[in-house]
Amino acid sequence: MSHLRFKVVDEAFNRKADPVAIPAERPQEYYGKYVFNRQKMFEYLPADTFTALINAIDNKEALPREVADSVAEGMKQWAIDMGARHYTHWFQPLTETTAEKHDGFIEHDGKGGVIEKFNGKLLVQQEPDASSFPNGGIRNTFEARGYSAWDISSPAFIMDNTLCIPTIFISYTGESLDYKTPLLRAINAVDRAATAVARYFDPEVRHVRSYLGWEQEYFLVDEALYSARPDLMLTGRTLMGHESAKNQQLEDHYFGAIPSRVEAFMLDLEIECHRLGIPAKTRHNEVAPNQFELAPIFEETNLANDHNLLLMSLIAEVARRHHFRVLLHEKPFAGINGSGKHNNWSLGTDRGVLLFAPGNSPKQNLQFVTFVVNVMAAVHRHNGLLKASIASATNAHRLGANEAPPAIISIFTGSQLSDILDRIVTSTNSELSDLSSREGLRLNVSQIPEIMLDNTDRNRTSPFAFTGNRFEFRAVGSSANCASAMIALNAAVAEQLNEFRTRVDARVESGQTLRNALLEEIRALIIKSAPIHFDGNGYSDEWKAEAERRGLDCETSVPLIFDAYLRPESISLFHDTGVFSKVELEARNEVKWEMYTKKVQIEARVLGDLAVNHVLPVAVRYQSILLDNAIKIKELFPAEKASGMTASQMTTIEEISGHCRIIQDETEAMVDARRIANHIESEREKAIAYHDTVIPHMDIIRRHIDKLELMVDNEMWPLPKYRELLIIR
Ligand code: ADP
Ligand code: MG
Repeated sequence: MSHLRFKVVDEAFNRKADPVAIPAERPQEYYGKYVFNRQKMFEYLPADTFTALINAIDNKEALPREVADSVAEGMKQWAIDMGARHYTHWFQPLTETTAEKHDGFIEHDGKGGVIEKFNGKLLVQQEPDASSFPNGGIRNTFEARGYSAWDISSPAFIMDNTLCIPTIFISYTGESLDYKTPLLRAINAVDRAATAVARYFDPEVRHVRSYLGWEQEYFLVDEALYSARPDLMLTGRTLMGHESAKNQQLEDHYFGAIPSRVEAFMLDLEIECHRLGIPAKTRHNEVAPNQFELAPIFEETNLANDHNLLLMSLIAEVARRHHFRVLLHEKPFAGINGSGKHNNWSLGTDRGVLLFAPGNSPKQNLQFVTFVVNVMAAVHRHNGLLKASIASATNAHRLGANEAPPAIISIFTGSQLSDILDRIVTSTNSELSDLSSREGLRLNVSQIPEIMLDNTDRNRTSPFAFTGNRFEFRAVGSSANCASAMIALNAAVAEQLNEFRTRVDARVESGQTLRNALLEEIRALIIKSAPIHFDGNGYSDEWKAEAERRGLDCETSVPLIFDAYLRPESISLFHDTGVFSKVELEARNEVKWEMYTKKVQIEARVLGDLAVNHVLPVAVRYQSILLDNAIKIKELFPAEKASGMTASQMTTIEEISGHCRIIQDETEAMVDARRIANHIESEREKAIAYHDTVIPHMDIIRRHIDKLELMVDNEMWPLPKYRELLIIR
C-alpha cells in the first residue's frame, strides 16, 4: 500500500556521500574571502576613508556622509570583482530569521544603457517595504515605512552573488523592529556599566566587550524521507511517530564516528563558514541519533550573533547540496533529546582581561568575584524575564522534556566557586585579606585558578552554568535568534552593575576603603541572590518544588511566561538601560503572542489533516482486512473453533475502533477549540487559549496515532517511521 514510504526509505538508505569541492588554497587563504574585512577595506578604500571608517567602527561613531560615499564606492568595486551583481540590506525582523531585499547594482545611465551605481546613501540607509514584517502595531498602515541602516560594526559579506550589508531595522518614529537594534543598545549599556566597575580595578579600562560563543545543535534528515513527512516540511517537527525500539539508550551516537555522508556535509559547511569569516571550530555528534553540533570560536556578541544567523541560512543551503534537510527545531522528535543553542557568554576589558576568569592576584580575583556575583544577582532578579527571553512555541517542547533544562532559571556554580562564595559570606573582611596564614591561603582568592581547573564538571541539567571563565546560557533554543537572550542578559547585568557601583561609591564617600566597600556589597549580593544558586539535578521533581519555595519563576505556559517583559521591574530595567521603551516592549509582546498562536495553529491544522486524511483511512482499511479475515474464518470453521481463532483479531479490531473514534472526536474538538480561540480579539488571550484549549487535544491525538502505528500493518503505514527517519547510512 504505502509504496511511497518504502521507495523513499530505499532512496535514503542507498544514498552515497556527495563529493566536496575542497579549495586548492589553505584555510588561512580562503578564510574571510567573502567578507569586506579590514584587509579588503585597506585594499579598496582611499587611505583617508579607511582611517575614518576604522575610527568610526572602533569608537562607535557615526559615519560622515562623504566617507559613506567613498566606502560605498570601494565596497561596490570589491563586490563586483568578486562576481556580485546585487546588493541587499540584511536585517533581523522579529520572525527569527533574516530578511533581504535584493537590488541590482545597475541603474539607467540616461543614454539608453546602464551603469553600475551604489552610493553612500544606498549603503547607509534604505526603506524596505516593511509593512509585511511583524511590528506589533507600532507602524500604522499609513506609515508602513521602516528604515534599515548599516551597522558598521559588522562587516558586509557576499552570499549567493549578493553583497549583504548587515543593518538595523527601525520604524519611521525610531522604534526598533528587529533584534539587532536592541542588542546593540544592550551591548552599549553593559559596556558603560561594566567599564565603570572594571575601573575600580584598572583605571585604564576604556571599554568592556560582551562576548558570545554559541553552540548550534541540529538534526539532519535525508531529503527523501523529509519530503514524505508533511509535518516536518510544514512545522519543522514530527507531530506523530512512535519511538524507535533503539534510540539513544546506548549513548553510542555521542562522539561516535560521524557517518561519511555527514562528514562530507560538515566539511563543506566548514569551508563555507570559513569563507564567510565564521570561525567554525568544533563539530561532533550529539546525544540523539542524527543530531550534531557546530561551534565557532567566540566573538563579540553582535558579530557572533550575525554569524549565527548567517550559519542558520548557510547550513540549510549546504544540507540541500548533500541531499539532507537540516532541522533547527528545538524538538523535532518526541522521546529523544531536543536541540539547544548554548550561549557561552562573557565580558572582557579592552585591556585583555576576561572578567569572569579568575586571575593570579588577589586584586584580580576580587574583580572576578565582583563580576560573577553581579551576574548572579542580575539573573536572580530577572529570572522570569530571562526565561521569557528564551521562551517560544518551539522551545516549549524541549524545556522540561528529555535531557533539557527545566523551565526554571537557576545558576550552577560548581563546588569550588560555591565554596569561595560561602567563605566570603562567613568571613570578615580582614580574614579575607589575610593571605599569609594557612587558613588564609585557602581564603586567598589568588588560589582560584588552580582549583577552577577541575571545576568544569558541567552539570548538564542547569539552564545557566558557570564554566570556568564564562557563563553558559543553555536554555536558548536551537532555532532562536540568540539576540533575544543576549539583550535580556546584557541589559540585566548592566542594570545590576550600575546599582552596585552607586552603592559602592556611596560607601567609599562615607569613608570606607574601596576593598571593604566592595566586599560588603558582594557579601550582601551573595546572600540576596542565594535562591538562584542550584547545583543539584535540575531534571528532578524535587527541584520544581524547591524552586517554587525559593520564589523562582516556575511558570510553564509560554504565553504567560511572556508577561515577564511587561512587569514593572522589566519595564524599568529596559528603560534605564536605554534598550527598550515601554511602547517597544508592548509591541514586541504582541508579536510574540501572535507568533505563538500562529505556530500552534499551523501545527494543529497539519495534525488534523494527517489524522483524518492519512492515518484514519489506513487504520480503517487495515481494520476491514482483519474483519474480512474474521468473517471468512467464521464461514469456514465451526463456531466454537472460529471464535478461538479470531479472538486476538477481534480485540485488535476493537482497539483500532477505539483509537479511531478518539482521534476523530479529538480532531473535531480541536477544530472547535481553534474556532473559538480565533474569535478572541486580544493576542495575549488568544495565545493563552491556544495553549490551554488547543494543545491538549493535539497531545491526545498524537498519543492515539502512535498507538495505531504499532498495530497497523507495517506495509500500510504511510509516513516514514522514527526508526527510518533517525538513521543515516
Ligand atoms: P562544550 O560543548 O563542552 O560546552 P564547546 O567547546 O563545544 O564546549 O563550546 C564552547 C564554546 O564556548 C565555544 O564556542 C567557545 O568559543 C566558547 N567560549 C570559550 N570561552 C569563552 C568565553 N570566555 N566567552 C564566550 N565564549 C567562550
Ligand atoms: Mg557548552
